[in-house]
Parts: sequence; structure tokens; C-alpha cells
Amino acid sequence: MEEINQYQNIKDRLKCATDHIELLQPGLVDLLAAPKRSIVVNFPVEMDDGTVRVFQGFRVIHNRVNGPSKGGLRYHPELSYEEIAFIAALMTWKCALLNIPFGGAKGGVCCDTKSLSWAELRRITRHFITELADDIGPHTDIPAPDLYTDEQTMAWVYETYDMLHPDRDNRPVVTGKPVHLGGSEGRDTATSQGCLFAVQRFIHHEAIPGLTTLKGSRVAIQGYGNVGANIARLFHEAGANIIAISDSQGGIYCEAGLMPDEVDAYKQEHGTVVGLAETMTISNDDLLLIDCDILVPAATMSQIRIDNADKIKARLIVEAGNAPVTLEANEILKQKGISVLPDILVNAGGVMVSYFEWVQNNENEHWPLELVNQKLEKRMNYAVDAVVAKKRDLEQTADADAGRAANIDYHTAAMVVALECLLLTLTTRGIWPQE
Ligand code: NAD
Repeated sequence: MEEINQYQNIKDRLKCATDHIELLQPGLVDLLAAPKRSIVVNFPVEMDDGTVRVFQGFRVIHNRVNGPSKGGLRYHPELSYEEIAFIAALMTWKCALLNIPFGGAKGGVCCDTKSLSWAELRRITRHFITELADDIGPHTDIPAPDLYTDEQTMAWVYETYDMLHPDRDNRPVVTGKPVHLGGSEGRDTATSQGCLFAVQRFIHHEAIPGLTTLKGSRVAIQGYGNVGANIARLFHEAGANIIAISDSQGGIYCEAGLMPDEVDAYKQEHGTVVGLAETMTISNDDLLLIDCDILVPAATMSQIRIDNADKIKARLIVEAGNAPVTLEANEILKQKGISVLPDILVNAGGVMVSYFEWVQNNENEHWPLELVNQKLEKRMNYAVDAVVAKKRDLEQTADADAGRAANIDYHTAAMVVALECLLLTLTTRGIWPQE
């Protein structure tokens, strides 16, 4: 198994990009690697059976040069500080790439939501947010949903913060709220919708070798939660054939194509996709190795690593989840001619519409879904165009320097665009104090 040191991971990802940025002031890369502020809390919760359990929670603010920090809260039994710090850095780069005036953050609680009752989850959320107190705020740090949290969790976040700060409008303190509580239309599907817009734009640019249309393409999706399930539906509606799907309990395969409505209904009833009629049961490992046009990892980190990257048969990998492909695996895939569309670009629809929600809350507005999606498509297209153009520029420069054709991957191109934006703000603001 590949050992992953998350701080080194941040530095390595930065290095891939900074190798292509000229006149970089020494020390700035270290500044962009280290989290600005980290909070670790341990707090007690009374369980339904009267016992008391202590839970550990984290909030890591990676960077705020471009604005208040923004990032999801994930609940997972194997959550670690290192993982949260790494995804907080991804959030900084994502916001910079999409030109969203936010910095990056991430947080969460070590807990297994599947073994907790609704009331226990509410008590955990309320105590965690009380512990964070003024470390979050409408203009300082703004949480959102992520792995195993949803709009109900965000409603509890809002309610707790609002109780602690009465007599003012606190709606912009958290995004991904239910629509009737100030949430944005389209936030629940935003990550998947943004992913579809991004893939379509790459295809429009003829930027993915061998893939000229989504229609009839064979798609395998790992993870069937908010992101994976909506990708299945939206890609199916766009004409793709969803041949395999998985969740934490395993996967299903059907060469003729799965019907997302049937999968949803089955998952709703049985709590898993495994066992749906007229499908073959496969493992999560098998799903990743399926012969398909598009593989969409939409679950946890580091699913495609040095030990399985060489066996991947997909033509294209779309990182709908955060960091599903390790840096080393990305290199192997590049050698094999498999394109990887990077997380900081293709799953940025979620934070984009979170930003729209925050703007609507601040302006006391409520935009219709059509307007949200129109704005989302425009911003996703703009970011894809910038990354495609940057890849071409970097390849031309590298060709001229080396005298032979260079192959810059989309991860590197996206990171260069994001870092150039961050460095511009950083150098314009200067390092404080200047006297
Ligand atoms: P979710 O909790 O709604 O769903 C997670 C899904 O992954 C579930 O179906 C679960 O069964 C499955 N899963 C968990 N472990 C798995 C494994 N080892 N193999 C296969 N499936 C597994 O979470 P989500 O909001 O859909 O988030 C999924 C990914 O997308 C995460 O990496 C998250 O960070 C990322 N992401 C989410 C958003 C968002 O708006 N929700 C935005 C950007 C990125």
C-alpha cells in the first residue's frame, strides 16, 4: 500500500505547479503549504442509552488571502487531522481556480454516522459548533456539507450558531442549508451539475483524446451519495450509459446500462445499491478496473494508487470526489495516456453554488434554479477554458525549452492557474507588517 503523508502531499502538489512559475519569491510556497490555523476539539456527548462518549473534531483554515475561508464538514470514523488539513489546501486552490473570493478550510468529526441516531447526530453537531464558537462566522469561516453530512446537518450548524449570536441575520454562516432556511436552489446537485458542465466543456475543446461525445459513453461511478448519485442521473440524462455503480458495501454492473431512478429506489429501500435485480455484484476494487470510457471516483481519497493505477482501463478519470487519485498514480495514468480531470476543477460546482448561496443570503435574494445553473455553467466553462489554455501554453514553453513535445497534465495546469491567482493577491497585499 502507498503510504501517504498529507503535508508532503500538499508540498508535492505545489511543487508540480511551482516548477512552471517563474520568479517565485522564496518562502511563498511554504506559506501556501502550511495551514494558517488549526483547531482540534474533544467534546462529550450523551448518547441515547445514557452513556457519555467523547468525540474529536477538527477545523483547519488553510488560507484566507482571497477572502473568508470556506470548506465542508465531513463525519467519518477514520477522519484524521492530516486528511482535513490536506483537503483544506485543496479548497484554497479550488476557490482560487474558480475565482471565488474565498480561502480554503475543512473540518469534521470522527464518528460513524451509520451507527448514530438522528438525535445523537444533532447533539454531536450542536456541541461541535459550540466548541468552534467564533472560529466560524459569516465573514470569517463558512462551513458546508461534505462526506456523510447533508442539509439537515447544515440546518443544525445554522441553528446552533444563531442561538449563540442572537439579534442578527446569521444565514451566511453556513451554506448547503435547506432551501426554506436560506439555502440556494441547485446546491444539492451543484457539485454533480458542475462536473457535467466541466466534462462537456473539455469535450467541446476536443481536449480528451478519443472522447468526442458523452452520448453512448460507458461510465462507471464509485460512490453513490450526494455527488455520485446526482452524477449518475445527470450523465444518464445527457445520454451516457451508466454501466457500474458502487457504495461502501460494494458495487453493481450491468452492461446494458443502469436506470438511476431504479438504483435510487433500491438504495432507498435497502441502504445499498448491491443486490439490484438484473445486475452483477462486483467489489469496489473491481469497479475501478472496469473497461469503460469514463471512471468517476466520487467517494473517499486515495482510491487510485500506485498499486492499481497500472490496471485502470478507463479512457478518462473525472475526480468528482476530493483527491481520489494519488500524485504517483496520476503520473502512471499520464504515461498510459489516460486523462485525469482534477478535483479542484471538476468538483468545484459545490463551492461555486455555496458562494452563490452566501451572496443571496447577504443580499436577501432568492435566485431561481435556471439562474443558478446559468451562472454555474458560465463559471465552470470559464475555469475549464483557462486550464485548457494554460496546458497548451505550458506545453509550448516546455517544447521550446527541451526541443521535444511535452505532455503537461490537467492537474498541473489547474494548479498553475490557481497559484498564479493566489500569488498575485499575496504579492499585492505584501507580507505584513511591512514596516
Ligand atoms: P456522501 O456522504 O453523500 O456519499 C458518499 C458515498 O460514498 C456513499 O454512497 C458511500 O457509501 C460511498 N463510499 C464511502 N466509502 C466508499 C468506498 N470505500 N468505496 C465506494 N464507495 C464508498 O458524500 P458526497 O457529498 O457525495 O461526497 C463524495 C465525495 O465528493 C467526497 O470526496 C467529497 O469530499 C467530495 N465533494 C463533495 C461535495 C459536496 O458538495 N457534497 C463537493 C465537492 C467534493
